[in-house]
Amino acid sequence: MFSNDSVKNAEACRFCWMCRHICPVAGSTGNEAWTPRARGLMVSMMEKGTEFTADIADIMYKCSLCDACANDCVTNFKPSCYTKEARTQAIVQGLAPLGVLQAIENIQSVQNIYGESRAPEVIQAVADLPEQAEVLLYLGQSGGARAGAVGLAAISLLKKAGVPFTVLKEEPASGAFLEELMGDTGDVQEQAQKTAHAIRTTGAKILVALNPHDACMFRDQYSQWGLLPGVEAVTITAYLAGLIAQGKLVPRKVALQASMQDPCRLARGIGETQAVREILAALGVELKELFLHGEMTRCCGGPVLNSHSPQVVRSMVATRAGDAKRIGSTCIITACPDCQDLMTRYETGEVKIVDLFALLDKNC
Ligand code: SF4
Ligand code: SF4
Repeated sequence: MFSNDSVKNAEACRFCWMCRHICPVAGSTGNEAWTPRARGLMVSMMEKGTEFTADIADIMYKCSLCDACANDCVTNFKPSCYTKEARTQAIVQGLAPLGVLQAIENIQSVQNIYGESRAPEVIQAVADLPEQAEVLLYLGQSGGARAGAVGLAAISLLKKAGVPFTVLKEEPASGAFLEELMGDTGDVQEQAQKTAHAIRTTGAKILVALNPHDACMFRDQYSQWGLLPGVEAVTITAYLAGLIAQGKLVPRKVALQASMQDPCRLARGIGETQAVREILAALGVELKELFLHGEMTRCCGGPVLNSHSPQVVRSMVATRAGDAKRIGSTCIITACPDCQDLMTRYETGEVKIVDLFALLDKNC
């Protein structure tokens, strides 16, 4: 049922508690069945004949695939490896939660996990861009719709910097969320091929991803599948930090003391933590680092978990806001449309959530 690699990882995790404290889902909910160790134990039991049930499938989805556990593991094991394979099995055996099936249906029908269309303001902002350009800004599912203000800020910044860029008028999903929902399947590869084709039609040589989930997908799977030869995929944060370093964007200093919510896919998936801090330094933001920052960052949930378990994401956002309160910080800056959407959607008390791109755009 599972690959040798997954079984090896699950056997290592099933009696281990070492990363229990770092898991944002288990930590914010206190549910012991949602720890990496519990999932390892379940995978091990299924390998030995225990039936895969809808209850076990549900537990396999109570994970944001943030890889904080793998990052913390001194023996280099990776629970997301067997969790994703279990999700593939859940889909194949018809055991996945209804919210997961709806999210997959949304992506496959309207290319958006929430079933939403592109925001009218975003459609208007990209209407006059050329069909082809050296740089393609890929907005992603939240950045083009429910967190459209983040996408608008990114578009505005590239225009201010004089970058010759375009945005796809019809932007297919990258496949990143689909892969989280169903694991590595042919459907994901098919989705990626469709999107790579759309990207290639623009003639872009630089692909700037607004969403770190998409950046990981472009950098890892698209490269592995050879889908975008000659196209360099970069994160929006690294790209903007470069524009500031080149003097193409000159931010004004702001009087702001704040903490940074490092997006987990950016900090651990890409391994990028400095670019956001360079942008904050250029803005003159006085940084108060959160407990668990940089590559240790605590995930605030993500759209896949939110699509089927919003109450879990609500707890995770509250936990992250609590991290800020404990150090006397009243402002968290986000650098991902999903973080911005989820951290403003749920209760953070007196902790204000500010989007890095909107802040930069306002001060350039
Ligand atoms: S990832 Fe490492 S630390 Fe976490 S449960 Fe598995 S073996 Fe233990
Ligand atoms: S990937 Fe993240 S959410 Fe999932 S078990 Fe590991 S630490 Fe917890």
